[in-house]
Amino acid sequence: MSGETIFSKIIRGDIPTEFVYEDEQCVCIADINPQAPVHLLVIPRKPIPRLVDATPEDRELLGHLMIKAGDIARAAGCGDAFRLIVNNGEQAGQTVFHLHLHILGNKAYTEAGL
Ligand code: 5GP
Repeated sequence: MSGETIFSKIIRGDIPTEFVYEDEQCVCIADINPQAPVHLLVIPRKPIPRLVDATPEDRELLGHLMIKAGDIARAAGCGDAFRLIVNNGEQAGQTVFHLHLHILGNKAYTEAGL
């Protein structure tokens, strides 16, 4: 479950992928199979397999991911209407075992006022 994943390869540049955003702690890419008009993934460079594998020493990193997700969602045009999702574990739908936050923004949320 730990170690090399498709996201490690993307972060290292082995699989050429545009970074919507990057800094020393994380990268953001567009999901290859978007489930909403805006579907981005915020991925820490540190390969934490699942959310539950994060430890207290990751506190600052997890906060950073959340703050950046908000900034990126707004920069992507989601306004205040987006969802952040973390799938934890195979039975919850996690398929890539390198922690990531899904940003899902859908015009319909904005129009519905949800
Ligand atoms: P999970 O199901 O683990 O929460 O989410 C993994 C996400 O990664 C899925 O939404 C899937 O479409 C996306 N994904 C898997 N492989 C790739 C890839 O090679 N490139 C990109 N951009 N997204 C990927």
